[in-house]
Amino acid sequence: MRVYYDKDCDLSIVQNCKVAVLGYGSQGHAHANNLRDSGVEKLVVGLYEGAPSAEKARNAGFTVQPVAESVRDSDIVMILLPDEIQRNVYREHIGPNLKQGAAIAFAHGFNVHYDLITPKTDIDVIMVAPKGPGHTLRANYESGIGMLALYAVAQDYSGRATDTALSYAMAIGAGRAGIIETTFREETETDLFGEQVVLCGGAAALVQAGFETLVEAGYAPEMAYFECLHELKLIVDFFYEGGITNMWYTVSNTAEYGGISRGDRIITEDTRREMRAILHEIQTGKFAQEFIAESQAGATTVNSMRRLSKEHLIEKVGERLRAMMPWIEEKKLVDKSVN
Ligand code: NDP
Ligand code: MG
Repeated sequence: MRVYYDKDCDLSIVQNCKVAVLGYGSQGHAHANNLRDSGVEKLVVGLYEGAPSAEKARNAGFTVQPVAESVRDSDIVMILLPDEIQRNVYREHIGPNLKQGAAIAFAHGFNVHYDLITPKTDIDVIMVAPKGPGHTLRANYESGIGMLALYAVAQDYSGRATDTALSYAMAIGAGRAGIIETTFREETETDLFGEQVVLCGGAAALVQAGFETLVEAGYAPEMAYFECLHELKLIVDFFYEGGITNMWYTVSNTAEYGGISRGDRIITEDTRREMRAILHEIQTGKFAQEFIAESQAGATTVNSMRRLSKEHLIEKVGERLRAMMPWIEEKKLVDKSVN
């Protein structure tokens, strides 16, 4: 594994470029603010007419332009739009306006890896993918820690694509933590697997199922919330700091014995078979196809799942309980009115 740090990067490359950041959402706001604080002066945010996030970008002092205009004379175009719409925006507004020798950049390899976007041949195609949410990327830049990021090159027209990617990664703060070399394929497939099986899909389903089991058996929803959701963060903090053995070290012997003797009854051979099936859907492009079709059909499944998830008892109980824990609010990463 090759890892690069600030000392291996030349920040002046991106500082001398005109950069268009497309999108001002979770990733977009973090990239734009971090680039500006790293001394990138020729910086514009590209958005569609009437985008709610355009006001947030303007309030933060950025020049906001329609995508086509922002792309026209830019040297680097970082595409931080939702994955499911990148293909259309590239075809209509980005591709036709890219100048020869420019670089397009992604924070996730999805569209390039699954051939949804076929980049022009006279440009560089790079990836700088922070390994964490946009709001954390910004918070970590401000506190000085930075955030790990992956970088990859899919097309090197200029012969300088790697230097550009490393320079950009340094400007968003990744060079302080580590910039790891990967490929579009590896990043896309492992990222999708992680979020579906463990981080987002698996973890959320595990928490909800545990909560429901306790509530169904007549225990107070408040107790169920603390046990199954609130405490998960405290446990994961030990994983993060010193691995799973670090967690076993800190919990009681009772928790340790109960955990090691019961965990495999939750993640069974059937569960592992499903994990492999999900990985297969990712590798064959079946998942990508399904996701794009869902978006073209108006995202009805996603919208109804969002509604159901919001109405779940665990959300209502959680809202009440978090109001009792002011320290959570004080450390909040997301403020929907500004980022
Ligand atoms: P968000 O949904 O948070 O933000 C998308 C932005 O694009 C918004 O500003 C939105 O405007 C704007 N937008 C939507 N449609 C258009 C359009 N047609 N033309 C121009 N602008 C448009 O996206 P994320 O930041 O979550 O994701 C961006 C990329 O980063 C994706 O490739 C994702 O996979 C990747 N990524 C995301 C991570 C994360 O932390 N979320 C982590 C690592 C990678 P408005 O909201 O005003 O409609
Ligand atoms: Mg990810």
